[in-house]
Amino acid sequence: MQEYPTGPGRMHEYSSATEAMLDRITHYTKARMRMSPPPLDGPKTYEYLQENASGTINAEGLGDEEALRVFEDVIAPATISQDHPNFLSFIPAAATEAASAFDIVVSVSNICATSWLESAGVVYAENEVLHWLAAEFGLPEGAGGVFVQGGTLGNLSALSTAREHAKRTKQLPKDGRWKIICGSEGHSSLVNAAMVMDVDIVKIDTDDSGRLTGESVRKELQNSKDGIFAIVATAGTTNFGLVDNLDEIADVAGEFGIWFHVDGAYGLAAAIGRKRRADFKGIERVDSLIIDPHKWMFAPFDACALLYRDPEIARRIHAQKAGYLDIMNEGTVEWNPSDYAINLTRRARGLPLWFSLATYGTEAYRNAIDHGITLADDIAEYIRQKDGVQLVREPQLSVVVFERPDWELEDYEAWADKLMDDGFAFVMPTKFKGRAVTRFAIINPTTKIDDLRAIVDSMLEFPKVKA
Ligand SMILES: *Cc1c(COP(=O)(O)O)cnc(C)c1O
Repeated sequence: MQEYPTGPGRMHEYSSATEAMLDRITHYTKARMRMSPPPLDGPKTYEYLQENASGTINAEGLGDEEALRVFEDVIAPATISQDHPNFLSFIPAAATEAASAFDIVVSVSNICATSWLESAGVVYAENEVLHWLAAEFGLPEGAGGVFVQGGTLGNLSALSTAREHAKRTKQLPKDGRWKIICGSEGHSSLVNAAMVMDVDIVKIDTDDSGRLTGESVRKELQNSKDGIFAIVATAGTTNFGLVDNLDEIADVAGEFGIWFHVDGAYGLAAAIGRKRRADFKGIERVDSLIIDPHKWMFAPFDACALLYRDPEIARRIHAQKAGYLDIMNEGTVEWNPSDYAINLTRRARGLPLWFSLATYGTEAYRNAIDHGITLADDIAEYIRQKDGVQLVREPQLSVVVFERPDWELEDYEAWADKLMDDGFAFVMPTKFKGRAVTRFAIINPTTKIDDLRAIVDSMLEFPKVKA
């Protein structure tokens, strides 16, 4: 085992042991990035991990070489590679080379991106990205926000801003409850946000195509608008990739004077591309929105961009006050990111995206996002033409949901297990109207159409579990 310095500072002093450790970590890092694609890998049993990775925490330490060996040999292979081109479940992730590499710089720089005082330069760079996004979505000058941990926290922060704003500007009827309206296919995080805020959530049926319309929201509001403080439209539902009718819903929100929030965690990236930009008409009228760069904008985990039309409303609500924080608001303070969401200490999680955008330029992003849509269109057409499989709904962005009509859940599961055991693809079943179906969520620009076809073909060749 290598020799580390001695004394209380032994873990912090730069030494030849640090050099050797950095060499090992750099070697691993390069090898991981060089794998193209990386092995898919997958979960292992608790017993296996217990047998092979337990006992790493002891009084003396293992040394970095042995700890890295445990990671490389046991922990990493028991962890799915989200960036594998055939990782097609949930919403995948595929960080760019520049974004992944720069995440290392963010780590070693020990940045606390809480306030202008602590990290003006970093806040400036993060805001360059936020302002570019705001302009892409047609928000006015002055719009701004913060990168938070994920869409769940982004939705909660935006909705708690909307609720506090409503408390200050509206009257809740006696014994009334505050309520959020969203479509029946809105994300699960909205239900959690409502639970945390102790407000009600009213889910409105979407039309047959799966989208929330202005008309259905208007009907609900004409029925009862008491206590409704936010209308949430989804710009790219997670299960189907469908965009609610933002323009119509913006009209209704304006008519009734209600906060309009768009959850674009997955799909709003398509408004940066060209192919489907028109589907997002109305996005320019939001009061707040979220988009997760760790999904379809190729940033490493974890990053959600939260934007407000009028950030001052959010600042008045979310800025934390304490004697020791007052200094953050003295002198020239351009922007304290932490004032705009439920957070204080924060990682500079917008920086890898900033570096990548600065490196490759925005055109590369538009093209890479559009490529996902092209792949989705192409495989959807393949499924339409193919006997024995069918589309469950017409896709809009880059999620394609399809089925083999004679299959049950157990068939999808057995087939998915086989694909994963072969290290070929990660394609999990989902549910639609109570029945099992499956889906491709395509965001990785290195995904190959031939692989997608091969996966569909393998479904037709796979024997039914119970014939
Ligand atoms: C993924 C997703 C979320 C939640 O985002 P996290 O980053 O996973 O917390 C919210 N809404 C939609 C539409 C999503 O796809």
